[in-house]
Amino acid sequence: ALTIGIVGLPNVGKSTLFNALTKNDVLAANYPFATIEPNIGVVNLPDERLGVLAGIFGSERILPATVSFVDIAGIVRGASEGEGLGNQFLANIREADAIAQVVRGFVDDDVVHVDGVINPQNDLETINAELMLADLQTIEKALPRYEKEVKRKTIDGAVLEAANAAKDALERGQLLSTSGIDLTPVRELGLLTAKPYIYVFNVDESVLTDDARKAELEALVAPAKAVFLDAKIESELIDLDPADAAELLEATGQTESGLDQLARIGFATLGLQTYLTAGPKESRAWTIPQGAKAPQAAGVIHTDFEKGFIKAEVISFDDLVATGSVAEARAKGKARLEGKDYVMQDGDVVEFRFNV
Ligand code: GDP
Repeated sequence: ALTIGIVGLPNVGKSTLFNALTKNDVLAANYPFATIEPNIGVVNLPDERLGVLAGIFGSERILPATVSFVDIAGIVRGASEGEGLGNQFLANIREADAIAQVVRGFVDDDVVHVDGVINPQNDLETINAELMLADLQTIEKALPRYEKEVKRKTIDGAVLEAANAAKDALERGQLLSTSGIDLTPVRELGLLTAKPYIYVFNVDESVLTDDARKAELEALVAPAKAVFLDAKIESELIDLDPADAAELLEATGQTESGLDQLARIGFATLGLQTYLTAGPKESRAWTIPQGAKAPQAAGVIHTDFEKGFIKAEVISFDDLVATGSVAEARAKGKARLEGKDYVMQDGDVVEFRFNV
């Protein structure tokens, strides 16, 4: 499964946030037989359509898609100079498909800031500098080998070109994710700043409703996406029943919890989308890459569905709601039979036909 790694300076609220991520009961519901690593937190991707489908089909249960987060640990200034970022840290962060960087915005004299002052911009620059230095070291280590291999013609010249272009960009202080360089030839290097980033501003309640301040912080990280949350409130929300949680959200001027936002934006950042299946047993969302075709989508349910794929009967969620039932949707010509080249759309309600 795709995972998002959580990084940030010490004392910014990573553990508080991560505790909220691991305290929910998603694990028990979705992974009854799996052993989950202690440093993995899983959250449901909120999807109101599932409740609607469960109503139409009389489903016994609802299974949303999920997003997984890995707690990667803190980064300190100068880490890349001294002993480096640490092998375990590097191994963990290389494996993550996207990075959520937690940035401290909350003010609390009882919680020491590593630099003694709350300055999100400084913090972002510190972390980015460490990650860029780590990438530079990785590239500089690989370059002599690439040069040799290109001379011997055992690898393509594009590899060396991409590595040199990346090195230049990093030396100019640019994150590789925004450099526009095609890094496919050097994918094996697992470059840290080439990954998609989400920025999580852990702020005081007052900032959650301060749109001007949020816009300032958003501008610091654009075009990457920003999520605003109060990690302390998140850890309280997770312990409340839905009605009380809704009340607390409203009282703090929010319409959606930070964890829900994080799941939604994380999911999109990973390039994922969902399609839906529904029946009396369950209404369920299935995770596929954006642009996936029907057989690949079927394969997420079972590999046999992909191998024996014949057709997909697809009704868009909106058409299903408008007609009220599968039978009515069919009668009104809203149920389409799609073949193996069909590109799945978000919110397709699907039943696969396959050979066994
Ligand atoms: P980490 O080092 O990044 O994992 O940070 P922690 O999650 O351990 O948080 C460090 C301290 O800051 C703890 O005492 C937390 O209770 C506190 N803290 C975390 N988030 C918030 C927040 O949103 N507001 C306030 N006031 N304190 C927070």
